[in-house]
Amino acid sequence: MSVTVVGSIAFDAVRTPHGGRERMLGGAAVHFSLAASFFDEVRVVGPVGDDFGADEYAVLHGRAVNTDDIEHVEGGKTFFWSGVYGHNMNSRDTLETDLNVFETFDPKLSEDSKACEVLFLANILPELQLGVRKQCDQATFVALDSMDLWINIAREKLVQAIETVDCVILNDSEVELFTGEREVVQGARKIIELGPSAMVVKLGKYGAALVTADSSFWIPAFPVAFVADPTGAGDSFAGGFVGAIATALQAGEDVTAETMRLAMAYGTALASFNVEEFGTERVARLTAEEVVERVKELQRITSFDAEKKLALT
Ligand code: AMP
Repeated sequence: MSVTVVGSIAFDAVRTPHGGRERMLGGAAVHFSLAASFFDEVRVVGPVGDDFGADEYAVLHGRAVNTDDIEHVEGGKTFFWSGVYGHNMNSRDTLETDLNVFETFDPKLSEDSKACEVLFLANILPELQLGVRKQCDQATFVALDSMDLWINIAREKLVQAIETVDCVILNDSEVELFTGEREVVQGARKIIELGPSAMVVKLGKYGAALVTADSSFWIPAFPVAFVADPTGAGDSFAGGFVGAIATALQAGEDVTAETMRLAMAYGTALASFNVEEFGTERVARLTAEEVVERVKELQRITSFDAEKKLALT
């Protein structure tokens, strides 16, 4: 059993109030893979150029991510993204996006990647997401991410892609852009009406919400002592969330509301480690014990006894 992820593999340059990096390993598929690698075998599908070398593969192999389906485009350059974060780190401006080999990306999945039980369609052209979804027709749980660009210029195909998945993972501003709804639950329900059974709305440093047709569940971000760089936090969240669901499926369980709530906690934990250092630096040397401990701590800081009677007047 394995998890397949299709998406960007990148070099990122970022500046935050706490420093920056000129060139670091990034990309949605990379952040997702490293986070999901704590739960199941992960196969990453995406293009790279000649500049993607042994050091970058070593980070992925260090977490046992299967890179057989990384497509090396001869003579090409790896996707490059740069961004700068404002003071409160909840918003960022993109300075540069050089698509390079990503521009002509046409995902080619090996038989092993197609045979995945769990599939994550990271933020790529919705038409490509649809094509990959069709190739992975055995998958029992499929989640999809997207971004404002595709909502604006490829809405129809994005709707078609959403119709084929079980779960959509977007941030709150994307939900508002896509549905016109400002309220998280109302917006999420409009997306659920298209077919998915669940929707995860990422709220940046305020946490995340899980919305189904008849329920919602809210979890805060884990309060880390220091946020160095939020880049990739959303994809690490997705990796922890989708990975935890893959573990449940592997154990023969159904994806119940309870499973998804626990998965939200794992997503929150992985995202919180991601932001503590730049790019993939922290997650690359994270241990399973640290992940489990953080999930327990998250439970301790969010649970209370609603049965205890207080004398209200
Ligand atoms: P996140 O902070 O979770 O939204 O993810 C940031 C990652 O997305 C970075 O590592 C970038 O390399 C990658 N990224 C930025 N823009 C794009 C884009 N247009 N398409 C695909 N990936 C992107």
